[in-house]
Amino acid sequence: MKKLSLIVPCYNEQEATPIFYEALCRELANLPVEAEIIFVDDGSRDGTLAAMRALRQRDERVHFISFSRNFGKEAAMYAGLEAATGDYVAIMDVDLQDPPSLLPRMLDGIEKEGYDCVATRRVTRKGEPRLRSFFARSFYRLINKISKTEIVDGARDFRLMTRQMVDSILSMKEVSRFSKGIFSWVGYRTHWLEYENIERVAGETKWNFWKLLLYSIDGIIGFSTAPLAIASVMGLAFCLLAFLLILYFFIKTLIWGDPVAGFPATICIMLLLGGLQLFSVGILGQYLSKTYLETKRRPIYIAKEKE
Ligand code: UDP
Ligand code: MG
Repeated sequence: MKKLSLIVPCYNEQEATPIFYEALCRELANLPVEAEIIFVDDGSRDGTLAAMRALRQRDERVHFISFSRNFGKEAAMYAGLEAATGDYVAIMDVDLQDPPSLLPRMLDGIEKEGYDCVATRRVTRKGEPRLRSFFARSFYRLINKISKTEIVDGARDFRLMTRQMVDSILSMKEVSRFSKGIFSWVGYRTHWLEYENIERVAGETKWNFWKLLLYSIDGIIGFSTAPLAIASVMGLAFCLLAFLLILYFFIKTLIWGDPVAGFPATICIMLLLGGLQLFSVGILGQYLSKTYLETKRRPIYIAKEKE
């Protein structure tokens, strides 16, 4: 019998953890695989770890990794993938926004239809603020224009993968991880299942607008170097403009003389160019800071307890 590893990142999810476990077990009972459930406690400050310990006592199939502090969901997923021993590996949120009822279809996709990965995407953004949906859509449009790696709009981290694909993902050791990009970058044949957005069962979301914005910048910097070319393009355009203007003023002065004028225009141009220069230096800074952090080769996570 094949073995299925389920990776469940949890951060302050004491209420959701037992509910998730029950729902998952009901589904696992009908699956023709041996299962292993790996909870990753991402430095929770509530009773999440205690809840995991209790489940571990009841059920041999449950394992957990507890981080020394909060390292973020990306690190938690990486730790889970590293610990997984199954032939198939799935990543699931603990808040039941990733319905376990999809697991049989996902398994079929791999076993019967021969896909390497069955991933999910939500097709509605129900229950989400309008403005956030707008920014999310714009982000996907932008990143897909400037990155060679396809980033699917609405893709969730909920996916089932083969051992081979998991090993490929683990071979990407970058510290600044953007999974939506990594999953796509490694390639393999992916089948997409679509479903409507479901609201979380207990607790509350760990994401706010600011965190999402920073995460989207991580994604752009991690999977595109196009912003680095902005400075060159703007520089070239302004050189061209300057050249034409020089020609224009030269001829104008020859014909009509040179009365001093255009002070406000000068100030505007100075401010514009200063702004563009600082903006370009800022982009360089973003890439430099990422490079700096990657070269330190710090571990992606630190586990305090593992069982
Ligand atoms: N999560 C985590 N570490 C974090 C934030 C979140 O492990 O720093 C987990 C969280 O417990 C949940 C999953 O990642 O299982 C998704 O988080 P959430 O439901 O808050 O995100 P949303 O579904 O709102 O995008
Ligand atoms: Mg959620």
